[in-house]
Amino acid sequence: MKASEFLSGFLKVVESGLRHLVRKRMTLRYPEFLVVPAPDELFGFKPGEARDTNGLRGRHLLDLDRCTGCRLCEITCNGISGAITMVKVEGQFPRNKRGIFPSIDYGRCVFCGLCVDACIFDALFMTDREELAEYDRAALLYGPEEISKPPKELPVKIRAKRAELILDERRGAHHVQRKN
Ligand code: SF4
Ligand code: SF4
Repeated sequence: MKASEFLSGFLKVVESGLRHLVRKRMTLRYPEFLVVPAPDELFGFKPGEARDTNGLRGRHLLDLDRCTGCRLCEITCNGISGAITMVKVEGQFPRNKRGIFPSIDYGRCVFCGLCVDACIFDALFMTDREELAEYDRAALLYGPEEISKPPKELPVKIRAKRAELILDERRGAHHVQRKN
């Protein structure tokens, strides 16, 4: 390598380093920051429009009153990870006479969202909750009643630093801290 090439390469590295010293950070320091979709919306499927709604693909949310127990979500997931098992829930459910609902094993789920796409009854969604780590594997198995409740609020110190993901042509993907 010629000395001039070496020098030119070296200067480029230094220039790039200096430029990034003054640029706003593009990456987020997890878990100090959490990305939330904008606007807040659950990931779901609109069959009439044949499209997904905006939203992150985190922990599911099940509407027990809408779920018919059709098993489409389970059948779909069987071809992917086998995370869904239908289980019986005690009680009266006019739209679900057998009272069977999906339970989800987050030790298996790959968060592909295809079960949500398969649900033509608007009963299954995904929330922005991605922090699901547990020390005990059994705790990753969520029953229908558990996934029918919205995720608990995050601790204030984490919530205060939630960030919104912005995509723009000039800077690419970056984030801004949310005010609320
Ligand atoms: S969540 Fe949807 S796809 Fe799954 S059983 Fe209920 S209605 Fe069927
Ligand atoms: S998101 Fe999870 S539960 Fe749903 S189909 Fe994909 S792997 Fe199965």
